[in-house]
Parts: sequence; structure tokens; C-alpha cells
Amino acid sequence: MHVVKIFLNKYIPFGKRYLAINLFGVVFAKGKLNRATVNHEYIHTLQQREMAFLFFFLWYILEWIFRVIQYRSFHKGYYNISFEREAYRNQNNLHYKQERKRYSWVKYLKKGKSSRQSVPR
Ligand SMILES: [Zn+2]
Repeated sequence: MHVVKIFLNKYIPFGKRYLAINLFGVVFAKGKLNRATVNHEYIHTLQQREMAFLFFFLWYILEWIFRVIQYRSFHKGYYNISFEREAYRNQNNLHYKQERKRYSWVKYLKKGKSSRQSVPR
């Protein structure tokens, strides 16, 4: 079963650009999320679980810093974190959770075309 716990609130995530953030498998959202976004966040839950949560956040921050330098943009850097590349590219495939193999995000370390859609985190 795939249950996504969502806490609607006014403040988290910080910043106008972001609608949702997944912290330790719990999604904080500032508004109602569509199915693709819920799917996107669930993909992050799978990534976090296989990385024992802590390593996910460590890697996420380190890769974000690296991508920001690479793309010279905070926002573009964020979109190109391998966890985000995997989540954005597969968020519209509602069967992805079942099909996905563990550590699939590793494939997204290599550059592919970047995807720019709505902005969940
Ligand atoms: Zn995301």
C-alpha cells in the first residue's frame, strides 16, 4: 500500500517557489497537491527509505551545492539533483512506484534533458 502522509500548513516549505517538501517520508504542503505531485513526493519517500533517510539528506544537500555551481542557478541546480530528476521525470507515471528498482536515482546522476514543470520539492 502506498500511503502518503500530507500535512497542509502555511509555512513549510519556506519560499514562494515551493509547494511541498518531503521530510522523512512525511510531506509538508502549502496547498492541495495534484496526483503527479503526490507521486513525485512518494518517489522521494522511496529514495529516502533506501538511503536510510539521513544519507538521502546529506547527498541531497551535497549534490545541490554541486549542481548550483555547475548550473550557476539555485533553481536549476535544484531541478538537476538526481533525486529530483528521477521524481520529475516519473511523476506522471502512476505505476512508477511499482515498477521502480531500488537506487534508480543513480541513473539520473548523468545528465539527461532537464524537466521543468510545477515546483514541488
Ligand atoms: Zn522533488
